[in-house]
Amino acid sequence: MAEALPLGSTIGILGGGQLGRMLSLAASRLGFKTHIYCPDPDSPAFEVTPHKTVAPYDNEAALLAFAEASDVVTYEFENVPASTAGFLHGPALLRPFHSVLSVSQDRLAEKAFIAERGIPVAPHWAIRSLDDIAPALRALGSPAIMKTTRLGYDGKGQRKVATVEEAKAAFTELKPSPFVLEGLVPFAREISVILARGVDGSTAVFDAAENVHRDGILHTSTVPANISAETAALAVDHATKIASHLQYVGVLGVEFFVLADGSLLVNEIAPRVHNSGHWTEAVCVTDQFEQHIRAIAGWPLGDPTRLADVVMENLIGDEIAAIPGRLAVGIRPQAYGKAESRPGRKMGHLNHITPKTPGK
Ligand code: AMP
Repeated sequence: MAEALPLGSTIGILGGGQLGRMLSLAASRLGFKTHIYCPDPDSPAFEVTPHKTVAPYDNEAALLAFAEASDVVTYEFENVPASTAGFLHGPALLRPFHSVLSVSQDRLAEKAFIAERGIPVAPHWAIRSLDDIAPALRALGSPAIMKTTRLGYDGKGQRKVATVEEAKAAFTELKPSPFVLEGLVPFAREISVILARGVDGSTAVFDAAENVHRDGILHTSTVPANISAETAALAVDHATKIASHLQYVGVLGVEFFVLADGSLLVNEIAPRVHNSGHWTEAVCVTDQFEQHIRAIAGWPLGDPTRLADVVMENLIGDEIAAIPGRLAVGIRPQAYGKAESRPGRKMGHLNHITPKTPGK
């Protein structure tokens, strides 16, 4: 067993959104302190810990002080600038290791990394110039989906295109370039697998969740997913293989498309706790937030066993205002404490808990 951080150690978290907030709460429960680093003074994570740095991600003096204050540093979002993570490597103990970001921040690098390990990904084509569009669309079929290779999230930075003209318009209007054009996958459903990998290489995997998106944003995650035992085992196998090839430490989310025959394509990976794992806080012995903290602290991983069935429902924009009126039996709420509600902004979630289906 690698050296475990003692109680009272400080976990540094880059990013101050809801994931940082929930990580901080879980860390406190285990007896750790957390220090949040985020440029935005209104970050929801600042509400739950007194230790914070409000500074840009390229402020080296602030980063150094943050590294000195932290016994281990982790991320709550994958778009931490590579230069920031690179600068912190050395002054800080970074978990997961910063090289993971170079894979997960670039859709093309990510797909290549996964495909090279023999795991199927969606058919795709790199679009670096306008000349790439016509052959790519011919090869992939129409419609297809044009995506920025970097900085996309919650359906942002991507557009469905049916013709070369539409793809060219997307090329000039979406930011930043370059792009990847993906064939439209005729999936039967979408699932995700959240797993934790410890410093010693041990893994703990949560049950697969079935995910439904609305306007490109996750709407619900339902567990158990409506998939066969074989498909579930294959998803766990793929996710475990990806984590081990990345020498990963922490919680990793892997999103899959499930085809009609039960086979799987990896859509994307997220090197952090994941929205489609928020159900774990309501129904698992150890939730994804505690699991991430345990992993990066060098502690033994917890028990991911699920004790009930659950549907996690995201509350987007003004839907958050309904929380007080929706607290029926079996509902566990989580509000992120964001000062301002905007359309498309994740404001909180509800976990709808029901008795466990026997055998599932
Ligand atoms: P992404 O940001 O790549 O995870 O895409 C967000 C959502 O768009 C996915 O969860 C799918 O619902 C849909 N989507 C993305 N790429 C594809 C694809 N190649 N084929 C079909 N649907 C897709």
